Amino acid sequence: MADVILTCDKTLMSNHHGKEFLGFGTSAPPNWLPEWLFRYLFFPKMKKINGLPLQAPYGLRKIEAKLVDEGIDAVTVDPGDISSFGGAKVIGIYVMDPFGWGPSSTTFAGIMKTGDPYNAKYFRLLFESRGYKTLKEKGVKTIIGGPGVWQFKYNMDFANRYGIDCIFDGEGEKDVAELFRKAIDGKDLPQYIEKKPKEAPSLSEIPEIKRPAVNGLVEIGRGCPRGCKFCSVTLRPLRWYPYEKVEKELLVNKKYGISAATLHAEDVLLYGSRNIIPDKDKVLKINEIAKKHMNYVAWSHASFAAVATKPEIIEEAAEILIDEKQKWWGAEMGIETGSPELVKKAMPAKARPFKPEEYPEVIKSAAGVMTDNNMIPACTLVVGLPGETDDDIIKTIELMDDLGEFKSLIVPLFFVPMGKLKNKDWFKNEEMKELHKELLIKCLKHDLKWARIIGFEYFQEKKSQIMVKPLYYLFMKLIEWQGKKKGVL
Ligand code: SF4
Repeated sequence: MADVILTCDKTLMSNHHGKEFLGFGTSAPPNWLPEWLFRYLFFPKMKKINGLPLQAPYGLRKIEAKLVDEGIDAVTVDPGDISSFGGAKVIGIYVMDPFGWGPSSTTFAGIMKTGDPYNAKYFRLLFESRGYKTLKEKGVKTIIGGPGVWQFKYNMDFANRYGIDCIFDGEGEKDVAELFRKAIDGKDLPQYIEKKPKEAPSLSEIPEIKRPAVNGLVEIGRGCPRGCKFCSVTLRPLRWYPYEKVEKELLVNKKYGISAATLHAEDVLLYGSRNIIPDKDKVLKINEIAKKHMNYVAWSHASFAAVATKPEIIEEAAEILIDEKQKWWGAEMGIETGSPELVKKAMPAKARPFKPEEYPEVIKSAAGVMTDNNMIPACTLVVGLPGETDDDIIKTIELMDDLGEFKSLIVPLFFVPMGKLKNKDWFKNEEMKELHKELLIKCLKHDLKWARIIGFEYFQEKKSQIMVKPLYYLFMKLIEWQGKKKGVL
């Protein structure tokens, strides 16, 4: 029986029907759809093999691999099964947005005003489950880690209420073995550990996953050189994994029958580069390696500036990726603003190697390149950044007007205090001006138009996806109906 069990809540232990973007749905609050149907659409149950989840969040898999490499008996389990691991001495829980305070949750909450988002609800339900209570009665220690742990700084009451022994804030690979050993031995743990960016693990300290990650995600690097003030990733050192390391993880996923890969980096187009100029050969090579093993390859994130700097990479990547099995590929991309002034103030390297004044043109030219090459991104805008002026919002609205033919989704997200702006205040719904509302409505119209068209291709690949497609169309109709009822559409 394992000494350590690793898990997460049900919204995270899901492959979202093989569509990463649907994971955004978990940050919505309860709405017009019955909960069982919403769950089925956005976070269906993960399949299991031999009683264990077939796929699990990549961050959990990394920690699992590190603990196993260090000789610790650790296993990742479904949250509904923790009571079957009564012999465990430690439970490690991975978090992304535990209290629904991340950008997409606060934006949904601000607009829909119908209570706690599903991610927060299911996180709490994990701690209120019979299985968790039974483990705690037996003296099992609880350790929390993952990108959402910062939220505990504002809610230590939750940690105290549910007997959380330690919250680990930072990249864990260097420290988890010692921490979990202490916990297994029943020793007291510090309640909050915060690692500095310079203490991040080196490449050699980061193990390869041993079991498959959700949607075939494989990291190709960590860190980002662009320095946006509202982002915590940028504080960490930049590290790119060698081809062999990435390929090993692709093969782990493939061995378990996964035929899709999501290459993960803050900017896949900067793979192997030490600055903000993409290295074409390295980017194409890593895509060739992924495509050699997988039918479908997506990118987690990319930047408009990198696309505009070397559009030929997108053209050649399309030649590698698009074939009879794959019609398009996606990535999450931050537009953030259409205002050069705001770029100068809050994200000075966002446009580089172009000047902040050129940023709107950079976005438009990159959008054209992507649309021409079947790359369909899900983009974000940041709303309510400290120091944002009316003129900044107007510039973003004007940019939205110019992006009507950009095949994409564009999602406005309320500012959340992170990175160098972590001491500022959340942007709240009450602070929304008429201009903000105008911007949000423009995004909604853009998304409803393109979601219908993209949805047609999005659910083509598997029979099971084709079957759920009408339900997503129904969901979009409901949004449209609500929009019309409230007079915004
Ligand atoms: S480009 Fe993205 S990942 Fe990089 S610093 Fe800016 S927001 Fe963060």
